[in-house]
Amino acid sequence: MNMEKKVYDFLIIGYGPAGISAALYALRSGHSVQIVGYDGGALAKAHLIENYYGLATPVSGKELLEIGKSQARQLGAEISEDEITDLFFDGNVFVASSKEKQYSGSVCILATGAARKKQPFVGLSKLEGHGVSYCAVCDAFFYRKKNVAVLGSGEYALHEASELKQVAASVTILTNGNELEFENTEGFIIENRKIESLLGNEKFEGIRFADNTENLYDGLFVAIGSASATDLARKAGAAFENAKLVLDENFQSSIPGLFAAGDCTGGTLQIAVAVAEGAKAALAANKFLRENLK
Ligand SMILES: Cc1cc2nc3c(=O)[nH]c(=O)nc-3n(C[C@H](O)[C@H](O)[C@H](O)COP(=O)(O)OP(=O)(O)OC[C@H]3O[C@@H](n4cnc5c(N)ncnc54)[C@H](O)[C@@H]3O)c2cc1C
Repeated sequence: MNMEKKVYDFLIIGYGPAGISAALYALRSGHSVQIVGYDGGALAKAHLIENYYGLATPVSGKELLEIGKSQARQLGAEISEDEITDLFFDGNVFVASSKEKQYSGSVCILATGAARKKQPFVGLSKLEGHGVSYCAVCDAFFYRKKNVAVLGSGEYALHEASELKQVAASVTILTNGNELEFENTEGFIIENRKIESLLGNEKFEGIRFADNTENLYDGLFVAIGSASATDLARKAGAAFENAKLVLDENFQSSIPGLFAAGDCTGGTLQIAVAVAEGAKAALAANKFLRENLK
């Protein structure tokens, strides 16, 4: 794995309105900023934006996205196109990993947008904590020498499967009929069949496929799509209450220096709100750096 040698002041995951807004406030305070994102998020899907301040002539989400990215670049931000699958805090620095690289920052702002993964099966949330998990690094320990399955087909599923492989007896990747988005060089068992339902009432027991056959597993790790802010915060060890990431009024999590902003905080899903939360988080992070690290 390629470790980016430089430790930036700010590591920002996501280059939508929240991430870029946070970057602008960090840069204007003289901080170095690394932004990592892999697509245009919700913003790129917006056809025309007519309700954001100053846009007398409406622009498309894609145009606004590019304007934001070039504004941050002009002020000195480093922007990398990459998908983050892991985040940890070594007590000093936040380190985010993708398949090939590691990025680090003294503070980290999660601005990954609204989680795109849908709860695909009825009862899945009921079995959460009872054989269904959303974090391999947190829960792999409980599945030592057991047979586990990972639900997903992308880079994030591969990351979670690789984590589990170190302890589990077997790891099966369940694509639920989707095409595998990575090369299976690690030799995981791949199940391409469509899933009908989960087995188990009190505790997860296995999977019933659409062809009416069943496979039994000891645990299921959900890793659909990319890692969300919730997934990354959980891996870093942040506190949750009722499955919601705990944030203070400045959008700081229980880990000092780890913030979240924008759609990923679950508030009003609008550009103006994402921009405001990004600004607020960055101002608090600026203060944190001034008081703690400089
Ligand atoms: C169809 C549509 C129309 C809309 N129209 C309007 C409108 O007219 N007015 C309005 O105010 N709002 C509108 N919105 C809402 C608005 O787009 C969002 O509120 C806003 O984009 C949220 O900004 P954000 O930065 O929080 O997230 P996003 O814009 O979703 O950006 C998220 C970023 O995080 C990155 N990311 C996510 N996961 C990872 C990962 N694991 N690793 C690396 N990067 C990651 C993504 O690649 C992306 O760069 C619309 C939304 C949609 C879908």
